Amino acid sequence: MVTDTAKLEAFRKEVRAWLRANLPKGWGTPEYKAPDPFSKEAHELGKWWQKKLYEAGYTGFGYPPEYGGIVRPPEEIAIIREELARHGTPPGPQSLGLLVAAPALLAHGQEWQKKRFIPKILSGEESWAEYFSEPNAGSDIANIQTTAVKDGDEWVINGQKIWTSMWEFADFGLIACKSDPNAPRHRNLTCFIVDCHSPGLTKLPLRQMTGNAEFGEEYFDNVRVPDKNRVGEVNQGWAVVLTALMSERSGGGAFWGGGAAAIAGAFTRLAAVRAVVDLAKETRRFGKVVWDDPVFRQKIAQMAIEAEAMRCSGQRMVARMRKGWRPTNEASIVKNFQAEMRVRNGDIIMEIIGAYSQLNRDSKRALNNGDWVYQMLRARGATIEMGTSEVNRNIIAERILGLPR
Ligand SMILES: Cc1cc2nc3c(=O)[nH]c(=O)nc-3n(C[C@H](O)[C@H](O)[C@H](O)COP(=O)(O)OP(=O)(O)OC[C@H]3O[C@@H](n4cnc5c(N)ncnc54)[C@H](O)[C@@H]3O)c2cc1C
Repeated sequence: MVTDTAKLEAFRKEVRAWLRANLPKGWGTPEYKAPDPFSKEAHELGKWWQKKLYEAGYTGFGYPPEYGGIVRPPEEIAIIREELARHGTPPGPQSLGLLVAAPALLAHGQEWQKKRFIPKILSGEESWAEYFSEPNAGSDIANIQTTAVKDGDEWVINGQKIWTSMWEFADFGLIACKSDPNAPRHRNLTCFIVDCHSPGLTKLPLRQMTGNAEFGEEYFDNVRVPDKNRVGEVNQGWAVVLTALMSERSGGGAFWGGGAAAIAGAFTRLAAVRAVVDLAKETRRFGKVVWDDPVFRQKIAQMAIEAEAMRCSGQRMVARMRKGWRPTNEASIVKNFQAEMRVRNGDIIMEIIGAYSQLNRDSKRALNNGDWVYQMLRARGATIEMGTSEVNRNIIAERILGLPR
């Protein structure tokens, strides 16, 4: 444990200096033209950035060194996450590798799978998708209908997956399939690593209300997967699914337990609050400058309070983890708070910009290149992805508060 404040402050300076030296040229200035969020260019920028972070030892935490993990004290990790969020660094590649695949492989994967796949996830070299949801199985994933049938040393997969984030550039997918049609729920699923370029796998885009095809749908038509790609035991896939879901809700694995994700999310939100203050100072509504209106000022203050509350919760979680506590269902608290806060923040910004809320990224007159409107629209998806707010509230009620079903 690092308790020396001066040492930690020196470390913070070191991280800041590294960021200044390594961020893309012009990053964060109005002149910098960021690529479209879901373009190939954005994906390549994300890969480049994650590799740089990994080589500097600023990502890849929570995994043993034999699987490519970087080991650091939690205080340093928290500082790194804070500084990355504070500088608004490029998003990583379009991949659910860190959030979903690596934690699931670490907990349930075979030794060769951990050695082969985890290091390339940590370094951002290979991208992953999560093939769980189906048209009739989202909240109720135990009800999936995609089948996997054993044929010699291979499994043959047939069915449809939907709402797959980061679908387009994924190299591999973690898929959950029904492997025993006669076994009871939760004891009939098996998970596999599937090569996204396999014959028989068709991928199609699905456009969200933001205008982006951030997620897609996939049709599996006799896709063959070797048995060595099975993750966990036959018919024990439910455990793999649960690890993956808890991990993504907590922001990247049991190691983070939501603490570091909450801290990083809070810094992103606090940066947004600063931008909203500037917006309020520049915008007139109902005949006066928005910032001069105490009602709006109170709403903006509330945004800052919520972000700060989340940061403190994250710090508390990290501090408890230092004493050996390992969170599980608490991931649902962080997930819901972040998602609902994004919705509330988006709505306040729309009130400030008034009629400009009707102009999205395609419009020349859109404020902030349409990004305020994009964030507001995208926030709705955050209350559905990784389990809806209702489903996460059920988890909090039943498994943390002990309330009856
Ligand atoms: C942006 C985005 C990204 C996504 N990315 C992925 C991905 O990468 N991979 C993947 O597999 N899936 C992904 N999903 C799918 C997501 O996990 C599901 O949409 C989600 O779990 C809800 O399932 P559903 O859409 O089938 O809705 P349903 O489960 O049909 O739910 C419909 C409504 O009923 C409510 N409801 C359902 N069950 C209960 C209950 N027990 N108690 C109270 N209310 C309930 C829900 O809250 C919701 O309001 C993504 C979704 C979004 C929006």
